[in-house]
Amino acid sequence: MALLCFYGGTFDPVHRGHLAIARTARDQLHATIHLMPASDPPHRAAPGATAGQRLQMLQLAVQGEHGLVVDRRELDRSGPSYSVETLLEVRKTQGPLQPLALLVGADSFVGLPGWRQWTRLFELAHLVVAERPGVSVDEQLPDALLQEIMGRAATTPAQLHQQPAGLLLRLQHPLQPESASQVRSLVASGGRWQPLVPPAVAAFIVAQGLYTAPG
Ligand code: ATP
Repeated sequence: MALLCFYGGTFDPVHRGHLAIARTARDQLHATIHLMPASDPPHRAAPGATAGQRLQMLQLAVQGEHGLVVDRRELDRSGPSYSVETLLEVRKTQGPLQPLALLVGADSFVGLPGWRQWTRLFELAHLVVAERPGVSVDEQLPDALLQEIMGRAATTPAQLHQQPAGLLLRLQHPLQPESASQVRSLVASGGRWQPLVPPAVAAFIVAQGLYTAPG
């Protein structure tokens, strides 16, 4: 059974860092990557663009990309987007044997113990972690997370196809410095933000007048 990989985020806006990681995951895992915009982010302040605008930017960003799809299941559900609920829903439709993975950046990974029912995530899916500048997965892991990941390390992506859930894979890729907050603050301050996002997304930000207010 082909591995299904879910990549959740606020994507406010989607940037080149997100896309680079999604492409690397697609190529290394041989999996379709489902980019899932969150409806009402439980872990951070409300986003600057509406859910509809964030969805449209993602659709523009993945246009013509094989193996990257926009998955709107978290927008179609009312209330905050908790990964555990999303994965439970996927598990229900895909069955117990389907290999599933959740792709997260290193900053999200070190904050995992703050997520709703976070220890259940490994029962439901594999975790794939992308390194991120400024975050050291080796040095910054809380004790509870260290305990939880003990014995879970996968050494090759192929292992993720061989069991439905429960492994941890560190994605090998060049570090990507972009962040959505950097894009938003550069737009507001009139800096050079366009190279940080795909051209179609840049055009959309300009056309909609997004992120021009400071903060
Ligand atoms: P913000 O700057 O507003 O916090 P962000 O750039 O982190 O936003 P999100 O939509 O919150 O974007 O991120 C979605 C997921 O992608 C998270 O798991 C995050 O860790 C990861 N991610 C985002 N940018 C990068 C990057 N440059 N390198 C690695 N992971 C990233």
